[in-house]
Amino acid sequence: MVTCTRCGKREAAFYRASSGESLCLNCLFREMENTVLKTIRRYKLIENGDRIGIAVSGGKDSLVLMHILGTFRRQGKIPKNTYLMAFSINEGQPFSCFYRMSRVDIVKKIADENGIEYKTFSFKDIYGYTASDISQGLWSKGDQTHMCTICGVLRRRAMNIIGKLHGLTKIATGHNIDDEAQTVMLNVIGNDVKRFAWFGATPENDVEEEKFIPRIKPLRFLREEEIAIYAHYHGIPLMELECPYVYTNPRYKLKFTLAKMEHDNPNIKYSLVSFGDNLSRLVRSSVEPNLYKCKYCGYPSSREVCRVCELFEKAGLLDYIDKSKALLDPHPAIHSGSNEAVKKEN
Ligand code: SF4
Ligand code: ZN
Ligand code: ZN
Repeated sequence: MVTCTRCGKREAAFYRASSGESLCLNCLFREMENTVLKTIRRYKLIENGDRIGIAVSGGKDSLVLMHILGTFRRQGKIPKNTYLMAFSINEGQPFSCFYRMSRVDIVKKIADENGIEYKTFSFKDIYGYTASDISQGLWSKGDQTHMCTICGVLRRRAMNIIGKLHGLTKIATGHNIDDEAQTVMLNVIGNDVKRFAWFGATPENDVEEEKFIPRIKPLRFLREEEIAIYAHYHGIPLMELECPYVYTNPRYKLKFTLAKMEHDNPNIKYSLVSFGDNLSRLVRSSVEPNLYKCKYCGYPSSREVCRVCELFEKAGLLDYIDKSKALLDPHPAIHSGSNEAVKKEN
């Protein structure tokens, strides 16, 4: 029997190539939770009085995030007065995470066990259109914008709207080190140095536009396969079906490229993320603030037309602005919470 390198007592169940340790499940889970706690403390991700939204896709990462934040709050490792609200967004395309979340009851159970409110929202109610409506509009005009881009751009704005509607101070996402390493690679491959300005764990630097609710990534130093093991032993099921669009997303291939590179360099993901963080500091000090307000929706933007309006305009659906007027900042309805469409979803 191989014993755990850490405790020297229990049987080792996991070989961690990056540190050369053989760990028992107890030590692995304790180490993972310590890593998350250190990330939260080092980057001051959660502070007294914070109202944190947890973006839940139904996948293992966001559910583990919900479980760990709930546990930390109970244990007083994050302030006990931290308000936690989990939410999912239905993008409204046939393969949305929302429909693939086969065990919605598990999401609710984890939320209940941890005293976390769970709410659902949809693109349809926020924008008046689904992701499918937009893709149809774009594709019928020969614009081949990838479905993941539509989901991603609209989800980011939607999170902000939800955050404002519920007075959230930060939004936590389940990004892990694999996601972060892929982002670094994508920025490098796309020769997009500017994007490093929005790379990192700290609340200020993951926002493309001013006045966005800061995003935090407490799991960004955890490895994907370790999160999967943690999920399995904590009764959190893995999503059974992949969204078919994921196979043509450039991230998907990078996953395998990184796995091959990792074979020769077990720490490559940590090196990439550390490189990204260092570059981010340099780039942030030289990036100009957003100069424009989007001419359609009024959101601050680095361009004349923000990415959300750009997509709707190309799809011929710019009237989304009228449909969602009451929800979009700086319109007062967000703050007064008077939008019935969103309330109805809750
Ligand atoms: Fe949307 Fe892409 Fe995720 Fe599918 S894989 S739900 S298209 S972001
Ligand atoms: Zn051990
Ligand atoms: Zn706009």
